[in-house]
Amino acid sequence: MDAKKDFVADCLFCRIAAGEIPSKIIYQDEDVLAFLDIQPQAKYHILLIPRRHVANSLNDLEQEDDQVIFKILLTARNIARELGIDQSGYRLVANTGRDAGQSVFHLHFHLLGGASLGLFGTPAGYVDNAE
Ligand code: AMP
Ligand code: ZN
Repeated sequence: MDAKKDFVADCLFCRIAAGEIPSKIIYQDEDVLAFLDIQPQAKYHILLIPRRHVANSLNDLEQEDDQVIFKILLTARNIARELGIDQSGYRLVANTGRDAGQSVFHLHFHLLGGASLGLFGTPAGYVDNAE
């Protein structure tokens, strides 16, 4: 799948952005879409995506996409405010590649919050097996 396109026909999030697949939309404008994750990992679990398929992941993000990424960050902040979790805290995550468990290759950010999120990283903690 090529990065940087307006619409990728076999991309789940492109199809959600186009309204072909239903989603529970929290916020949308001409550049950004925020919707509920179908398998929530926290009390509030919202996905934020650029409408256009600007990148498969952070790995192929380019400078020219700086505005939409900044807009996503501000949107995440605004949603956190509206949910009343901006002061209690929240987490913004961009899973990138295999070790992070990325499953949808349309750049996206997870906004998680609403209760204590616990430790960050592998549940058992990091073990350095390198000699
Ligand atoms: P990632 O694993 O970081 O690539 O995140 C992909 C996320 O998309 C997962 O948290 C899934 O639960 C979520 N997801 C998959 N299909 C849908 C869908 N149809 N609507 C909303 N979220 C979805
Ligand atoms: Zn896409």
